[in-house]
Amino acid sequence: MIVKNIEFENFRNIECEKIEFSEGINVIYGENAQGKTNILEGIYLFARGKSFRAFKDKELVKFDKGVAYAKMNFESKGIETQLGVEIPKSQTKRFYRNKIKVSKTSEIIGEFRAVLFCPSHLGIIKDSASVRRKFLDVAISQLRPVYIKIMARYNAVMEERNAILKMMPEQRQENEALMDIYSEELASLSADIADIRNEYIKKLDYWVSVFFNDMTEGREKPKITYESNASQEDFENRESLKNRYLELLKNNKEREYKYGATLFGIHKDDLKIEINGRDSRFYSSQGQQRSLALAMKMAEGEISREGKGEYPVFLFDDVLSELDDQRKKYVLSNISSRQVIITGCDKGVFENTDDCNFIYIKDGKKNEDLVIPEINEAVEEEN
Ligand code: ATP
Ligand code: MG
Repeated sequence: MIVKNIEFENFRNIECEKIEFSEGINVIYGENAQGKTNILEGIYLFARGKSFRAFKDKELVKFDKGVAYAKMNFESKGIETQLGVEIPKSQTKRFYRNKIKVSKTSEIIGEFRAVLFCPSHLGIIKDSASVRRKFLDVAISQLRPVYIKIMARYNAVMEERNAILKMMPEQRQENEALMDIYSEELASLSADIADIRNEYIKKLDYWVSVFFNDMTEGREKPKITYESNASQEDFENRESLKNRYLELLKNNKEREYKYGATLFGIHKDDLKIEINGRDSRFYSSQGQQRSLALAMKMAEGEISREGKGEYPVFLFDDVLSELDDQRKKYVLSNISSRQVIITGCDKGVFENTDDCNFIYIKDGKKNEDLVIPEINEAVEEEN
């Protein structure tokens, strides 16, 4: 999968710009706060259907403007598609496929696939479980768009169920039947989601081992397992998986009423990540955490390729500068044969690489003809 170009209008600090990408390594460089991450944010918008960092869509619209646009052409298996988005400041955003409006954002998810790796992902090992769940959800959604619908339904049912759990004791009685219906549906959705996550985590475990073993020359063995309310035996049978969740919901109602919230289900899941048998959430070194995070992102790319028959686009936001030389080298030797779009303050390790596409960004504008160093040299010579 290849991004050919992206065009922006009033997107963040980019007033009007079209950026072309090449097939291999693309390096977007420039000083801080110039718009490098904004470009990746725009590209990733088409993979995830929403920004990876904005709290609200209106943040994406240039300060003094009313509406932002982005339009991206990408190629997948020889077919070129254009995805566009219109983001009005005061209304919800609308996506377009080949200039035709799509009725729901979820319709475009999975068409364009990308793996995003940014400095905040380096904390994935020690951050809270919700960060690891988000990693799973984002990665799985791009491969199986139906997952988004199941998750949305799960959250909606849980919200209804939680509303009953917050009721006064006298109201609970009359909502008992409704409560049972919600518990039944929640257990069923939990089973569906857990099953998909379990399958994904097995692949993740395999690929993280491959990359991590490679990085550490086999000295350290990672193991990723699914931490959920169900046991591995439960996964052998869909009915018993659902019953496991249903039992937990039925048997713990008193506790749930006390807390006013659903205490069991896939919203409590976590990934257990071990190195040589020790839980890396508690015992891993800074370096091990970085290597694991990197291996997880590389694994995400491999699972995507396995599932869809081609690599997704890799978006590395400022992350190379955060990695030491050994890991940097590892990334570089593993990203050939796919498209990578990297941001950084300078050309960095790519300085002398001929087949890189360098894009210099200043003040939300690209400037292919970077003459600043030469000007400085000329001034020095004059002096
Ligand atoms: P760094 O190297 O520090 O990561 P960057 O080049 O990646 O910098 P971006 O995060 O892409 O920087 O862009 C930040 C710039 O965009 C800032 O100058 C910020 O003020 C500007 N910006 C952010 N949102 C908007 C907006 N809605 N309208 C106009 N400018 C914006
Ligand atoms: Mg940035």
